[in-house]
Amino acid sequence: MTSVDSQPDLSAAEAVLGAHVRDVMDFPKPGVVFKDITPLLSTPAAFGVVVGALADLARGLGATTIAGIEARGFLLAAPVADRVGAGIVPIRKQGKLPGRTRSEAYALEYGTAVLEIHEDAVPTGERVLIVDDVLATGGTAAAAHTLLRGCGADVVGLAVLMELTFLSGRDRTGTLDITSIMKI
Ligand code: AMP
Repeated sequence: MTSVDSQPDLSAAEAVLGAHVRDVMDFPKPGVVFKDITPLLSTPAAFGVVVGALADLARGLGATTIAGIEARGFLLAAPVADRVGAGIVPIRKQGKLPGRTRSEAYALEYGTAVLEIHEDAVPTGERVLIVDDVLATGGTAAAAHTLLRGCGADVVGLAVLMELTFLSGRDRTGTLDITSIMKI
């Protein structure tokens, strides 16, 4: 668990999360251990604890907007934003947003992917917390960070449920302040 002065105690959320994540071997391809959060999502009391911890973090960071990364990030961003009275900004895969967009390509293990944001998504002065379920290699988080900064956002951090430390995602995310409820 990451800890700095402004952060809440995440130990209760870590315990609950650990009991409600399912490892799925070799998904979506051989060698990958997929961290499946559907048990967490389907257990209201557990989900509430985790959302509450993220909301405490968001409040502590003074976040006024929560940016969720498609797709599981949306499931976290919406309830967290509702609890703290913040707006929600979706960061989507290419071709999904209807308005004028900014795009950012990033490297996957094989090939590239593209994330997009509405170019007017973040009014000037908004303090944005990015949320997602898993930080792996860090490419997704770095692309989201770049998109938000390009919109003029003040990005106050990234919050993830799980950080796969063996993939060294922090090496690709530069100055982004990262909080992970659980490190694996
Ligand atoms: P990365 O860009 O490598 O940090 O990958 C992070 C993105 O891929 C997040 O949006 C995650 O939802 C997803 N992801 C990567 N690895 C896993 C995993 N082992 N289990 C679940 N989701 C993962």
